[in-house]
Amino acid sequence: MKTLIAAALLLGVAGPAYADPTANLLRDLSNAPGPSGFEEAVRAIMVPRMKAAADDLRYDGLGSVIARQGSSGPRVMVDAHMDELGGVLRRVTPDGFLSMQMLGGWLDQALAGQRWVIIGAKGPVHAVSSIRDIHLAGADERGQLIKRDAVFLDVGARTPAEVAALGIAPGDPVVPDSGFAELNGTGNYAGKAWDDRVGCAVLLLAMERLKAEGHPNQIFFVATVQEEIGLRGARAATALVHPDIGIAIEGGVTGDAGGAHPEESQIRLGAGPGLFLYDSSALPNRKLVSLIRKVAGAAAIPLQMDLVQGYGDDSAEMQTIAGGAPTVNLVVPARYTHVHTGVINRHDVDGMVDLVVALLKRLDAKTVADLRDFTP
Ligand SMILES: [Zn+2]
Repeated sequence: MKTLIAAALLLGVAGPAYADPTANLLRDLSNAPGPSGFEEAVRAIMVPRMKAAADDLRYDGLGSVIARQGSSGPRVMVDAHMDELGGVLRRVTPDGFLSMQMLGGWLDQALAGQRWVIIGAKGPVHAVSSIRDIHLAGADERGQLIKRDAVFLDVGARTPAEVAALGIAPGDPVVPDSGFAELNGTGNYAGKAWDDRVGCAVLLLAMERLKAEGHPNQIFFVATVQEEIGLRGARAATALVHPDIGIAIEGGVTGDAGGAHPEESQIRLGAGPGLFLYDSSALPNRKLVSLIRKVAGAAAIPLQMDLVQGYGDDSAEMQTIAGGAPTVNLVVPARYTHVHTGVINRHDVDGMVDLVVALLKRLDAKTVADLRDFTP
């Protein structure tokens, strides 16, 4: 645990410093190493700020953080997940290479020829993933996919003993090595883990604004674990929170890069926060969608709609556990998710904070009772 936190600090400070605190928060959350089941470094960033803005903070038995703000009114759960795509070390080969068990949904083509960081007992260990060399690959291989089973991590060791001396062993977590950077002053931020560290940032910023501005609810801000391996944290936390309304804040998937695919995704980077009308894990509550459209319209926040197959999110757990609840999945558009480097846009982040704050202020007892009324 201590080494993970030390690694987070070490990786977190490795990056440009900005005058703007939101850019620094996004940098630190993106750089923090925290694959599913190993979220300590992210929790170390989230907890102090959540605690400062909460009336009460506790943990469930799996590691999610539950911070309550307000003591009466509807129980609203606002969820963002702390974990990112990564892996764990599986096996050390006789010549000192390492194989990985991937955590979360990786494309095989995203794994070869990348830099990684292993969080070992003695701190971070840098690694490079193997790739077939063009000079050795036959003509038939050059256009082919390199399957994950053919990818090994190279930490510079020549023997299992040298691997052990680095303080790493099977079961240790691995994350992409991909430092935060703003792309050429455009307000587009490149980095790893925007799914769902951008949601974590929105959760913190909205929580802090609402502490200052007030709201009519008991809001449970929940930073969950293990989303990428099957929404496991949300399932455990929802059973404790028992929400009347659930709002997931996620990284969305843009369809605007490398040729448009409008039947796959319609949201665009920089065009405002998004709302999922469908994904393969959940359908949103129709009245809640309508309310969010109204709230966004009244606040002049541009709102994008999307439907994505092959995507799951924590709202699916909030809407079915503990008797069920109206839910929605709100997304900050992200390009290139589930790979080493994704891109988000700063205006989309700010718009999402504004939208979440405006929505949470609107969810008074009468509004929530209406959303939960299924009387024909
Ligand atoms: Zn996610």
